[in-house]
Amino acid sequence: MKFETLAIHAGQEPDPITGAVMTPIYQTSTYMQDGVGKPRNGYEYSRTQNPTRKALQDCLAGLEGGAWGLAFASGLAATNTVIQMLASGDHVLAGNDVYGGTFRQFDKVHRRFGLEFSYVDTTDPENVIEALQPNTKMVWLETPTNPLLSVTDIRAVAEALNLHPNKPLLVVDNTFATPYLQRPLELGADLVVHSMTKYLGGHSDVVGGAVVGRDATLGEKLAFLQNASGAVPGPQDCFLLLRGIKTLHVRMDRHAESALNIAGWLEGHPKVEKVIYPYLPSHPQHGIARVQMKNGGGMISFIMKGGREAAVKVAEGTRIFALAESLGGVESLIEVPAAMTHLSTVGSQLEVPPSLVRISVGIEHVDDLLADLEQALAIA
Ligand SMILES: *Cc1c(COP(=O)(O)O)cnc(C)c1O
Repeated sequence: MKFETLAIHAGQEPDPITGAVMTPIYQTSTYMQDGVGKPRNGYEYSRTQNPTRKALQDCLAGLEGGAWGLAFASGLAATNTVIQMLASGDHVLAGNDVYGGTFRQFDKVHRRFGLEFSYVDTTDPENVIEALQPNTKMVWLETPTNPLLSVTDIRAVAEALNLHPNKPLLVVDNTFATPYLQRPLELGADLVVHSMTKYLGGHSDVVGGAVVGRDATLGEKLAFLQNASGAVPGPQDCFLLLRGIKTLHVRMDRHAESALNIAGWLEGHPKVEKVIYPYLPSHPQHGIARVQMKNGGGMISFIMKGGREAAVKVAEGTRIFALAESLGGVESLIEVPAAMTHLSTVGSQLEVPPSLVRISVGIEHVDDLLADLEQALAIA
């Protein structure tokens, strides 16, 4: 089946008892057993198994072209569980522009348990290979990155890692692109991680995370950790995510159409120094973005000529774009990463420019969005 059909049907059968077309919210913590140690259809306890979560997990596997999917209470809970596959003394090589919360978890939590992390610019696969250490067990990529929208050639990195004697696991955070734009498993990644809070949910009403893969052994290890560590989403959240995913492809097309329009317009604005959008010819990895991604996505970052002060004024001056963290919802959002989402990177190798503004282009009418940015830039 094609992606659009999978988004609506993968993992979801009409309810066998009533024919209910939408997956029921199985708001239950436990399940009556048929005899001692005889759970019905494998359902024992909702941390381990829940039918609403199962529908979501199977849907995620379908969308990413995986063999299995696992849902978590947040994107960072998914990340945390993936890192729990490693042991003290292992090294993780990550992109030097990963999400601020990912960096904070690596740096402030996992490092205390004896894991080692280093960061490189992954846009050149050579850098990745050169930075591998004998104890490197995992390579953590984000593409496009948050917030600098750098694009890494996933296939090139995967092929280079396959030739390396270490064969570290390749994990790709696919939050910004979504499986509609790019499917890392098909390009050679071992695991895909998502913050479902963003485009998959799509309506800014739920926090969630996911891990998807093909290898059965990895799937078993992660399912064990999902249950052993327990960071699972509740059935109501799983239902909201299933509902959001049904319109993913329609939303992503509109996000991208408007974002390309706005990015081009911003590029011509006298107060804007630089616009970063993967589908603009001025983007340094524009070529690979056009091949790897179905469209440019809904995120734009831009640098103001007037520095931090101008960035703050634009972000505080919009009326339709809401000044808020997060992204990927139907409504447009604006923020200053250095002072908000990426505050944890200040002073580190991952620090972002203070004059950077990040916008998440929603699906309102593009003319209204352009007019809003125009009046906010006039104030700045
Ligand atoms: C938001 C985000 C995360 C973290 O997800 P939460 O659901 O907020 O825990 C991870 N990676 C990227 C790229 C993100 O944007």
